[in-house]
Amino acid sequence: MITLALSKGRIFDDSLPLLHAAGIEVLEDPEKSRKLIIGTSRQGLRVVLVRATDVPTYVEHGGADLGVAGLDVLLEHSAEGAAGGATALYRPLDLRIARCRMSVAVREDFDYAAAIRQGSRIRVATKYTQTARQHFAAKGVHVDLIKLYGSMELAPLTGLADAIVDLVSTGSTLKANHLVEVERIMDISSRLVVNPAALKLKREELRGLIDAFEAAVQAQAQAQA
Ligand code: ATP
Ligand code: MG
Repeated sequence: MITLALSKGRIFDDSLPLLHAAGIEVLEDPEKSRKLIIGTSRQGLRVVLVRATDVPTYVEHGGADLGVAGLDVLLEHSAEGAAGGATALYRPLDLRIARCRMSVAVREDFDYAAAIRQGSRIRVATKYTQTARQHFAAKGVHVDLIKLYGSMELAPLTGLADAIVDLVSTGSTLKANHLVEVERIMDISSRLVVNPAALKLKREELRGLIDAFEAAVQAQAQAQA
């Protein structure tokens, strides 16, 4: 049995067409059923539904053989040096789904450039403290990081922080909250991650599945071009 970890929402929705292109149908709609383990049309393949941030943990510890996780989540997970002693994740493929960028945003009326020029300490609220820390350290900017778990946009509006580090796709959420993007940190997309031990033990099935994903990504890229 092969277990694939997915998170509900964006990643599940964007993974379905790839799975479909690989000839795999997921047998239940997670928005309708309460099941956390779902069968697929492919013999010996099941899907488990976990929180987006839990995908690397499941795959690392063998709760799933492979999974789909955003680069944002993967970077944060590895920088946290999570899971003492657990083996690193094998990352064979950029699936090119759930694409967005990680950016710095501030209130429209906050002069970010001046704050940096003056060497002021900037208060930054984010879910991505590890990635943000590395980004500002590389720029030589002094920051106080404030860890949040959601609704980052609220932080500058309430005076909790001067800036946020968050994911941006269209920018409409920022705009609706009178925030502006002042720095792009990196492009984000979802990656296929595989447990290295599973790859050894179930080599044939996993290789077949990774190859099928790869062909589906190629086909989707060609269709979009
Ligand atoms: P939860 O909503 O359960 O707290 P989450 O916010 O991490 O978890 P999603 O919002 O579904 O879950 O995000 C999952 C992944 O999708 C993120 O880790 C990121 O890689 C990607 N993602 C997040 N926001 C966007 C966006 N605006 N556009 C495109 N991809 C995004
Ligand atoms: Mg979310």
